[in-house]
Amino acid sequence: MDHLADFKPADEKMPVIAVDFDQVISDDHEGWLKVMLTLEKIGFQVIVVTFRGPNDWPEDLDFLREKGYKVYTTHQMAKRQYCARKGIYPKIWIDDSPESILFDYDNMRGFYTDRYSGTDFCLKVEENALPESKSSID
Ligand SMILES: [Mg+2]
Repeated sequence: MDHLADFKPADEKMPVIAVDFDQVISDDHEGWLKVMLTLEKIGFQVIVVTFRGPNDWPEDLDFLREKGYKVYTTHQMAKRQYCARKGIYPKIWIDDSPESILFDYDNMRGFYTDRYSGTDFCLKVEENALPESKSSID
């Protein structure tokens, strides 16, 4: 399937959807490529935003670049902040770790499962980094 056959050039007015790679696209390359193509067909600009660094197995992401997708590696910076610094403001995020959209890796709250090793470990959190509504739940 060549998704570029129906590719519409990026338009700044097109709403952006940011799709995570690990445990999202990585779980089913062909399936997610179909989803991403469908999202483009209904008027979204699809980008890939991963917590990975630029040197973290970049070859895993080559098939996306070869299909014409822009891939952003935040190097564990909060994804929303990273994108904002590049002038990108996704309207919708598709991510198995939504905390990675708002928090840097070192500031993510609670337990985070290292899905590569299967090991759980606890990350420190700055209490004042949490939105008020989140703090009141505890
Ligand atoms: Mg992920």
